[in-house]
Amino acid sequence: MALNLEKSAAAFAEAKQYIPGGVNSPVRSFRNVGGTPPFITKAKGSRIYDIDGNEYIDYIGSWGPMIVGHANDEVVAALKEAVDRGTSYGAPTLLETELAKLINQIMPSMELIRMVNSGTEATMSALRLARGYTGRDKIVKFEGCYHGHHDSLLVKAGSGAATFGVPDSPGVPSSIANNTLTIPYNDIDAAEKIFSEVGSEIAAVIIEPVAGNMGLVLPRQGYLRKLREITTKYGALLIFDEVMCGFRAALGGAQAAYGITPDLTCLGKIIGGGLPVGAYGGRRDIMEQISPAGPIYQAGTLSGNPLAMTAGIATMKIISREPEYKQPDYSRRLTIKTKQLTTGMEEMVKKAGLKLQFHQAGSMFGLFFNENEVYDYATSAQSDQEAYKIYFHSMLEQGIYLAPSQFETAFMSGAHTEEDIQKTIVASEVAFAKVA
Ligand code: PLP
Repeated sequence: MALNLEKSAAAFAEAKQYIPGGVNSPVRSFRNVGGTPPFITKAKGSRIYDIDGNEYIDYIGSWGPMIVGHANDEVVAALKEAVDRGTSYGAPTLLETELAKLINQIMPSMELIRMVNSGTEATMSALRLARGYTGRDKIVKFEGCYHGHHDSLLVKAGSGAATFGVPDSPGVPSSIANNTLTIPYNDIDAAEKIFSEVGSEIAAVIIEPVAGNMGLVLPRQGYLRKLREITTKYGALLIFDEVMCGFRAALGGAQAAYGITPDLTCLGKIIGGGLPVGAYGGRRDIMEQISPAGPIYQAGTLSGNPLAMTAGIATMKIISREPEYKQPDYSRRLTIKTKQLTTGMEEMVKKAGLKLQFHQAGSMFGLFFNENEVYDYATSAQSDQEAYKIYFHSMLEQGIYLAPSQFETAFMSGAHTEEDIQKTIVASEVAFAKVA
């Protein structure tokens, strides 16, 4: 039965009168799958509700932050208490150190940590730091990796193993994009080649160590280690953008899952518990170059905001809490739940006679309507977008809220129940049958 989204459609039309495209971030507009985006009015646990009265099991989780579920009781209680003490001071608080400490305990490579307000700000600031620290201008990024929307990183490759950057958006000056070199993900030869050509000019390699912005693509065995070796050899910094995969690929992020120590790490999403936050941090000697400890300038009126810190602390405490005797930790429990879901869905794929690629990293998962292995942007882009649209809309109609694009990732939370997982598997049987 088709969803009734009448009120959402009217709200979307009105929003377009005042907001470009009716949304404050493009993917929310459903431009990849068509149709009306449900306008959301509330969320609790694993569920999200629209203004038309529809209820969905939510696997977007605000694009990753809601790892303990929506409106988690502990997070909400902490926030309610905090809001009475004021919403922003522009002065140091105990909360900032507490959150930095919690992060440092889980990700020891982040020896010093600077809070900012978004993932974009985190990667932007990390690049300035890398450039200031090394005295070099060039940055290497990977085709299909997204690090936010600032000029240096809104760049993709042309064809060929490595190209000098071409801006992805009007408004990005080519003089800036020129310093961004883009190479394919999972291709170690391309990385070696670019370093052999201009290695002494490269300030940093920035990578999503588990890539979640071209669909979910995992690093091949040994790939991250090789990048670590090359960057060390040439004196370039290795920056892990764990804005998405931090605390999800494993509790300690992709760096723990793969046993690699980056020089700098960028975070966002989860560490704000659903409020706007980002952070970057890493080696003490590098981070000490940041103002006021050092000469590289970076600042923020709302950075370390007390409400955001409070929600982040509450969330981080939940996910890092000691598990009961002989029980897996929070992140491992989510991994097991996610596996249960993808295994069930894979059964339904087989039943429908389809051949798809399922990927999972901890509590992140995704599927490609693609018969072949997906390991980089080019192979991801070959996936069948029409099939995804059919699958997506069928799932939405059945009350399953997935990313409105195949090139995004889905997220499990601690609030998802056994019943949610079974419902999702049953819905996927219908959806896959529609595609077949
Ligand atoms: N880095 C990664 C890996 C991301 O997935 C995102 C956003 O999805 C960003 C950076 C940018 O974060 P924000 O949207 O908070 O600016």
